[in-house]
Amino acid sequence: MKTKISLVLTIAIYIASVISIHAQNANIIKVVRGNADTVTSASHVIVGVTNPGSEVYINGNKVKQYKTGSFGGEISLKEGDNAVVIRAISAGVQTEEKFNVFYKIEQRITRIEAGDYKFPVVVTKKGAYLNYGAGQDRLGGAKINFISDGIRMELLDSVANLYKVKLSENNYAFIPKDYVEKTYPGTKPPFSLSGSWSVSNIGKADRVTVSLEQRQPYIVKQERDPNRIVVDIFGTACNSNWITQYLNLESIDYVDFQQVQPDVFRVIINLKHKYSWGYSIDYTGNSLNIVVKHSPKPTIKGMVIGVDAGHGGPASGAVSPAGYKEKEQNLAMAYMLKAELEKRGAKVVLSRTDDSDITMPMRQATFKKENIDLLISIHCNAGGNPLVNGGTSTYYKHIEYRDLAETILKRLVAMEDVKNFGLIGNFNFSLNSSAYYPSVLVETLFMSSLPDEEKIVDDKFQKEMMKNVAKGLNDYLRKVRRSK
Ligand SMILES: [Zn+2]
Repeated sequence: MKTKISLVLTIAIYIASVISIHAQNANIIKVVRGNADTVTSASHVIVGVTNPGSEVYINGNKVKQYKTGSFGGEISLKEGDNAVVIRAISAGVQTEEKFNVFYKIEQRITRIEAGDYKFPVVVTKKGAYLNYGAGQDRLGGAKINFISDGIRMELLDSVANLYKVKLSENNYAFIPKDYVEKTYPGTKPPFSLSGSWSVSNIGKADRVTVSLEQRQPYIVKQERDPNRIVVDIFGTACNSNWITQYLNLESIDYVDFQQVQPDVFRVIINLKHKYSWGYSIDYTGNSLNIVVKHSPKPTIKGMVIGVDAGHGGPASGAVSPAGYKEKEQNLAMAYMLKAELEKRGAKVVLSRTDDSDITMPMRQATFKKENIDLLISIHCNAGGNPLVNGGTSTYYKHIEYRDLAETILKRLVAMEDVKNFGLIGNFNFSLNSSAYYPSVLVETLFMSSLPDEEKIVDDKFQKEMMKNVAKGLNDYLRKVRRSK
């Protein structure tokens, strides 16, 4: 009997204490999401619940509380330990809940299977690019595209200053030795299953992100008709069961994929417009990002145009029979073209403003920094029979910029006594190799030809020629406008 009484008493005390806890802690804060110890993302979502009708603050910022009592907010974390303070005020009573979240910046996962992999493997460095073959010319062989750093590929062969590397079972390419490092023996080249994608508008461009398990080599090519960007990712098999596509895209129409070979995964980016303004491709962690620029307003007015004067400093370029230097003509014409374009309302960025020796990477850096919409390089040609007119020519690397080179050439060959030397494609001039903006190289006339020399060193002729370059650009932009 005694024990029964004491049991009843114990239960009664217990019930009373539970009720009193509820009464005293009227605004208890319960965190239901976000109080993890360690996270790998800087943006961190916190969700909790407290007395309905409270004022709730996360790290001093008021957040919305819903009728159910739930509240939530997003904070951005810095690397390392982050203190989180949630404060709720209900009927004048303030309650605080504190915890810490550790933000760890995730290292790129490189699944290295050490062991007895018997073939040598190389890993790409910054600035690396792939070539189609082992061919060499004065500009360095036919380039496919630039490629990110940190990509491992099996080394197949060595030819002069190039390595032959394996992209997948049936594909190979060549890569300059300067742009790779040999890895330690036993390192296997990567293979990935593709993960989820997202396609979004990031402001001045649309971006496709394809997550992979490791950094795989890729080849990218823009095609016309239909206008699309095709990216072959090697050593990759499709496991993408989730492609998020937002509705506010401007340059991308839709994306698709094909498994073209068992180990070649093809990403197809169909574009909305006939004319393109450039794209870039690079890894962030193990995600491959393809950024496709939006179209600027297709008028010279308001456009940022890069004008590049070839050579400079000790690099004179071609020297004419009478001793005129190409670098001087190029610089003079670059200033004339600048004036022509500015007259029409463009902002012009020069890669060289005086007789200095500016390397190709420095020129590219200037244009990248100024975020140019389009590039025109000015050079003079040399070679061939000095007794006849050499003529004028324009050059492009990427097929999508062929029309730009063509409209400018048409204006130049319409000038009196200017011979057509041709429209030249897939040209290996390094400033044209960036696909990030439309570009054209203008080889005005031949320094080495006597009839051409007379014209190309003449101030009046130079001005006339640059005026026609500007007109050709204008023709191109008119085509762009009409295509919409
Ligand atoms: Zn030149």
